[in-house]
Amino acid sequence: MAIKLFYKNTYIKEFNANIVHIVEKDDSFHVELNQTAFYPEGGGQPCDEGYIGDIKVSHVYEDKNKIYHVLDKLPSTLENIKCTINWEKRFDHMQQHLGQHILSAAFEKLYDANTIGFHLSPNTATIDVDKVLSGEDIKKVEYFANQIVFNDLLVKVLYPTKEELESLPLRKMPTVTDDIRIVKLDDFDYSPCCGTHPNRSGEVGLIKIRKYEKYKSGLRIDFICGNRALMDYSIKNDITNSLSSRLSAKLDEILNIIDKDSEELQKIKKENKNLKEQIIKFEAAELMKTAKFEGNTKIIKNIFKHRNFNEVKLLSSILANNDTTVIIFAIDNKDKAQLIFNRSKDLDKIIMKDILNKCLPLIDGKGGGSPSTAQGGGTNTDNLEAAISLAYEQIKKIC
Ligand SMILES: [Zn+2]
Repeated sequence: MAIKLFYKNTYIKEFNANIVHIVEKDDSFHVELNQTAFYPEGGGQPCDEGYIGDIKVSHVYEDKNKIYHVLDKLPSTLENIKCTINWEKRFDHMQQHLGQHILSAAFEKLYDANTIGFHLSPNTATIDVDKVLSGEDIKKVEYFANQIVFNDLLVKVLYPTKEELESLPLRKMPTVTDDIRIVKLDDFDYSPCCGTHPNRSGEVGLIKIRKYEKYKSGLRIDFICGNRALMDYSIKNDITNSLSSRLSAKLDEILNIIDKDSEELQKIKKENKNLKEQIIKFEAAELMKTAKFEGNTKIIKNIFKHRNFNEVKLLSSILANNDTTVIIFAIDNKDKAQLIFNRSKDLDKIIMKDILNKCLPLIDGKGGGSPSTAQGGGTNTDNLEAAISLAYEQIKKIC
């Protein structure tokens, strides 16, 4: 079994080791070292990354007390190889992990809310607690947890005997029965854990709860610590500065201004809609003047270029409110050919969907509708004139 250097000293970034066993699997090499500072995936903590010699370590895992480092090729030598941990990543994991201990303990001490789940990934860290708390309560937990960070408490690792274990005020029970490892944060928290943690709580830097949501019968808390919190602050600071500059407003005025602008926008949209409807009514009156009489039936036909489908549809509906009127409209929207047919209710001999179905092949289109109104769309804009003429001829025959 390899010596676990990450338990002897969590700050080891470089070490030398020998490859003592190699397993070839799926075009990769799973190697065991005589000693390793690479933390294998486990206890909610992702594995370390880094290099063995100049070969990148893509994954590290533990199986039956053996730690395997996955490489896509073997280094040129198997002995006294320089190994390097991706320290930025490891320290990030250590900050999030100890931050989680502190946050979970704070939830328990203030509100008796137990942590029932922990997830750490490269971008997010979450804990699940078994109680629903208010936003105010959560802010108190965050404040309390950060005081523990600022108090710079000492972290110690204990390997107690069964008797010693019984006397410890554990926050949760261990999930293993042998070699139980307790992470002790001064007298504030005792928690069984196999992960890596900094030596002092101050190294967590900052614990920030970003958001929370209901999860099962409790809450899922999304939090970040240390450098993650710094980066998150930096991004959010850039956004608020940019908003402040765009809106020419101080930070505390931004939300009010956005609310006012949003209200104004809704008002303008409503006015714009009313004005458009007015214009369309005028346009309908003008188009009515172009109607051709076939017997008593008035037929209005037109091809619109680059017009909004809903506007043209509204136009056809307004015109269909007139008696004995048939509307044959087409829209030429670049690669899109559209047909909108409509008629007055009194012309029940004219079935618009049948007429549309005869025209659709001309525009390579599909569509449907009812006896009084039908619409369709296709890809061939070259035949719109022909489609309109065909519809006109069909209606003329019925009139
Ligand atoms: Zn831990």
